Amino acid sequence: MVDLHTHTNASDGSYSPAQLIEAARAAGLEALAITDHDTLAGYDEAQPRAAGAGLELVCGIEISTKLARPGARARTVHLLGYFLDGGPSPGFRQWIRTLQDFRRDRNVRLAARLQSVGVDIRLEEVEAVGRSMAGRPHFARLLVEKGYASTIQQAFDLYLDESARAFVFHDSPTLEESIRQVCDGRGLAALAHPVRLSRDPRQEEALVQELAAGGLGGLEAIHSDHEPSDVARYRALADRWGLAVTGGSDFHGDAKPGVELGMGRNGNVAVPRQVLDRLRSARR
Ligand code: AMP
Ligand code: FE
Ligand code: FE
Ligand code: ZN
Repeated sequence: MVDLHTHTNASDGSYSPAQLIEAARAAGLEALAITDHDTLAGYDEAQPRAAGAGLELVCGIEISTKLARPGARARTVHLLGYFLDGGPSPGFRQWIRTLQDFRRDRNVRLAARLQSVGVDIRLEEVEAVGRSMAGRPHFARLLVEKGYASTIQQAFDLYLDESARAFVFHDSPTLEESIRQVCDGRGLAALAHPVRLSRDPRQEEALVQELAAGGLGGLEAIHSDHEPSDVARYRALADRWGLAVTGGSDFHGDAKPGVELGMGRNGNVAVPRQVLDRLRSARR
């Protein structure tokens, strides 16, 4: 078995790269992909440790992109990138650094905006918890800890949501550009947890068709948020548009209780080794 969707504490997981490698070994996984949000730092730290644990480590990433459609509000879509031979190109690594710069700049403005509405939260405090992926969830946690909100959800509703008083704009890359960057960077681009895309199967199909023409190479049919009927639907969808199937638990450690490494929720994830082998042969 393999798990191709996991997070370390380089983004929003609770396990360090070394702890995640050890957990994967203990779970008997043959291969593990680290797919932190918008950073390769967790993979880079894990990489020298994987061989000693007898584990095949795959370099991955989960990019927060925006999907803009005429007449509709832009939505966030998560795109997985898998770098199956030789890792990402230097150009891709540079592009990821620009995304991190955008995020940092947004966080600077968000902290200033919060100060201006009377909230005492400094960027250093946020970065101490969120590290290179510091973002609104970490601001939310501090808002709760400091008594400005009673729950994380209330912190979003009062301060951080798009419609709330302290919201500041964050310029994330488009889905289409992100697919191109992954392809140009020697990777395979796959849509993460497609169940979040659209509740309308026709819209879903049209989008997948269009993205496949734009370089998309895979669809994450197997995911801990997918019902068995979703898995079957996405397998068929991947088949129709010539996409490889990918799969993983989306393990975040204690940050996402109930989702187990390699197994998902109550064992609803089991990704056979062939999935990774097919991914390798699908890479264009
Ligand atoms: P960021 O990338 O720093 O802007 O944070 C985005 C994350 O914040 C998302 O992945 C969600 O986990 C969380 N988030 C965004 N909007 C809301 C909301 N209205 N309520 C709760 N959580 C939210
Ligand atoms: Fe996450
Ligand atoms: Fe995701
Ligand atoms: Zn994820």
